[in-house]
This record gives sequence, C-alpha cells and structure tokens, in this order.
Amino acid sequence: MTRRNFLEMGALAAAGFALTPFRLQGKTEQVIIIGSGIAGLAAWEALKNEGVDALIIEAGSRVGGRVHTTRELISGKPVELGAAWIHGAENNPLWDRVQKQRLNTKLVRGETEAVFDINGEVLTVAAQANKDKLFEDLLGFLEKRRETLTRDRPLQDLVEEFIQRRKLNARERRRLAHSVESSVTQEYAESPLRLSGKNWNVDEGFQGGDATVLAGLDSLFPRGYRIRLNQTVTKIEHKDDQVVVTTDRDVYQAKTVICTVPLSILKSERIEFVPPLADSKRSAIARLGFGRLEKVILSFPRRFWPDDCDLFGLMGEQRIWSEWFDGGTDSNVPTLIGYAAGQKADSVAGLSEKEAVAMALKELAAIFGEIPEPDVSAVTSWSKNPHIQGAYTAYVVGSGPDDVLELAKPHGTRVMFAGEATAAKAVGTLHGAASSGYRAAMESIALL
Ligand SMILES: Cc1cc2nc3c(=O)[nH]c(=O)nc-3n(C[C@H](O)[C@H](O)[C@H](O)COP(=O)(O)OP(=O)(O)OC[C@H]3O[C@@H](n4cnc5c(N)ncnc54)[C@H](O)[C@@H]3O)c2cc1C
Repeated sequence: MTRRNFLEMGALAAAGFALTPFRLQGKTEQVIIIGSGIAGLAAWEALKNEGVDALIIEAGSRVGGRVHTTRELISGKPVELGAAWIHGAENNPLWDRVQKQRLNTKLVRGETEAVFDINGEVLTVAAQANKDKLFEDLLGFLEKRRETLTRDRPLQDLVEEFIQRRKLNARERRRLAHSVESSVTQEYAESPLRLSGKNWNVDEGFQGGDATVLAGLDSLFPRGYRIRLNQTVTKIEHKDDQVVVTTDRDVYQAKTVICTVPLSILKSERIEFVPPLADSKRSAIARLGFGRLEKVILSFPRRFWPDDCDLFGLMGEQRIWSEWFDGGTDSNVPTLIGYAAGQKADSVAGLSEKEAVAMALKELAAIFGEIPEPDVSAVTSWSKNPHIQGAYTAYVVGSGPDDVLELAKPHGTRVMFAGEATAAKAVGTLHGAASSGYRAAMESIALL
C-alpha cells in the first residue's frame, strides 16, 4: 500500500454512522480512534482500506476538529472557521486528493498583497520590494545565526540583533515588524518572544503556493465512518491484551487505540493514562508550545477594499487584526476574514464577540475611512473550545523536532499517537495531521 492510498476516497458507503451512544457490552473493537480531526479521519480511512472497521470517539458535537467549514454565515456558501489552506500544491498528498476529487481551488498570496502603513497609505511597489528584501535579509541572518547558538533563545532576541547590526531606522523597523507579524507570528500562531530561535521554522513545506478548496475543506472528509459524538475520553488504560477507553458516558475496549487529541489536551492532562505516560513523553509534551489563532469574518453590503487585492496587511503594533483575506470562496458576497495570532489572539479571547468585531471595524476604518456596517459578523474562539484550547503546535524556546518524534512514539505497545503535534517535519498543518493518521493506522495494523 502506498502512502497516498489512504487519501483515496474509494467507493465507501455514504455516511451511515450511528450518533446514539450505547454500551458495547463486552465487544472488543479492533481499533478505537480518539478524535475526528483530519488525523483521525485519515487513520480511519487507512484502516478501512486495509479491511479494518475502526470506531471513532469524538468529544465535540461535529466531525472535523480544527477543520470547520460552515455554510451558515453567507447564504449557504462555505466559510472556513479553522484551517483554510492546503500549504503547497507540489507533492502534498492532500493536493493529490483535491485533484482526484476534481475540486475547484483558489490560490492565494503573492502579487495581490497590499500593505497599509499606519497613516493609511498603501506601500508603493518599490517600498513593498524594499520591505520584502529586508525580511529576506532577516531570514538569511536567522538561518546563519541559529548555527552559532550555544543555547536556544527567543526568536525576538535574534530579530533585535539583526535590527542593531543593520542600524534600522523607525520606518524600516515598522516594516520589518509587519513582515515578522504576517510571516512568522501568523504562520506559527505564536509570538517571536516565545518562538525558539533555533527551531521555529525547521519543518519542511511544499512548493506551489497555498490553495483554498472552493467547495469547503470538509469535501475532503471520507464517508462511512462509525462515530460516537459528544463523548469525551477521560481515561486510557493499557492492559496486556487490550486497551480500555473510558468516556464521560461509556466504557469501550479495543485491541489498539489511536489517540489524536490536540497537544493542548495532553498538556492539560485531562485524559488519565494508566500506566502513566513515560517521563520522556511528558517532558516533550510540556516543552512543546501550542499557539493561538483566531479569525473574524465580516460580510459587507459593498466592497470597499481594492478590487485586485486578495489579501492586505495593516501595519501597527497596536492593531489586533493585522492580516485580512478576501473571503476566498466562490461567494459573490463581499467578505473579509481577519486574523489575530499569538498574543493578539489572547487579546481577542479576552473580548466579547461584539467587542472583537467593533475592534476589527475600527481598525479597517482607520485605513479605508467610512465603511459600511457588516451584514454578517462572526468571531472564532478556538482557545475557548474545551476540546481544542488553542490553534496548533509551535516550537517555543527549548523545544524542537525531537519532542515531536517522542510524542509520536506509542505508549506501551497498543496506544498510538497521531495528530499534527506528532507530525515530524509538518506540525500545525493539515497534511502533517493526515500523514500522522496514516502512520498510526499502519502501526495499529501491525498489532492486529
Ligand atoms: C484558526 C486555524 C487556522 C488554521 N489554518 C490552517 C491552514 O490554513 N492550513 C493548514 O494546513 N493548517 C491550518 N491549521 C492547522 C490545522 O487545522 C490542524 O493542523 C489540523 O486540522 C489538526 O488536525 P488533527 O486531527 O491533528 O487535530 P484536530 O482537528 O484538533 O482533531 C482532534 C479532535 O480530538 C477531539 N478531542 C479532544 N479531546 C478529546 C477527548 N478527550 N475525547 C475525544 N475527543 C477529543 C477534538 O474535539 C478534535 O475534534 C489551522 C488551525 C486553526 C485553529
């Protein structure tokens, strides 16, 4: 079986999964998958392709985890509240799947970006080129500097070193700060004050730009899975010949378990492992960071941002919603999606939805002058979701890929770990999560 097989849809039966919980009364499942995010679904599909019918247990009331396509905001059109882009079309297994399913996509980023300075003026092409060059120079500096670090330090320390060496003036600093905000903080969902200077970007990406799936990312979900929704796993007990999984409503047994819950849940120790997880795994969980990222979705009666612009950034440290994307789906309704990451996402979590929207409108008005009232507004709250508690794994000071490899190791012989936090070279991504699900499925099969 090739690595890509698990992503093939196959001719699985349409969703016929039971939603009503029941006591299994002694039945031992082959495999129980905890969590129905992209990792859990990929694991389920890989097992199905090998003839193993796994059961998924999900704490939330819907499938998808950090992929949440809603069609309830903008006249039935899909809007992504969680992950939105497939990063890199070349060699990305998810992209292969998109093509197999003949899904229409839209590439974003690149030439269509506009950056607005604090006075509301858009940067000229030349100023934008200077800004990009400065950031490229910073990346070159960081790349070399990491080799000479004797101990890990916050990324921001190294950025400051670069600023001192280059003796940047206030305007250059402002532009650099914006590049760091949009390409570092927003990408890694964590502040450079906390990101590891050594490891912040060690993961490998794919070439080919970022693409949204116009029909919605949930079009990639397999069909036909067996699932118990609204059941929170509280205990995973590894016995000699089976694993006992306790939820807040039931008890299940399985030959093997694939645990795909987010790193944040492992950090908060809301699942009791019996016997306890190895010290090495617990230390890795403690060291790794879990970033924060929130979105605001605003639909307006008319478009007031430039026609030829897919995304724009707003300079200014004090701005919460610093990156904005054109709705990005096949909707004709003028829609903007704003992002707040790291400490700015923490600020959003401290606001009511009304306050967060008001802040977004104020920040947009500072650039565009008088703007219309939105017809639709929504703000995400990933940090407050009890089963997610943030955005995705980030390499903070003192952590690195070895911690991810440690987390990916089985607990005992029968409990496997998957999910983006276990994806060597691709934490925090959809393709990383999917590949980890496949890996854990293969580990489980070896035991059946
Ligand atoms: C706002 C945002 C934007 C993002 N943008 C992108 C993007 O553009 N591109 C990209 O590649 N990635 C993006 N990501 C990251 C991407 O969404 C994740 O890497 C990926 O979806 C994680 O999948 P997963 O299966 O590992 O985890 P999840 O999707 O989190 O699935 C884990 C599941 O476990 C469930 N669970 C938790 N605790 C329990 C329990 N005790 N019992 C039972 N179930 C439990 C959760 O409810 C959840 O459904 C984004 C994430 C966020 C939050």
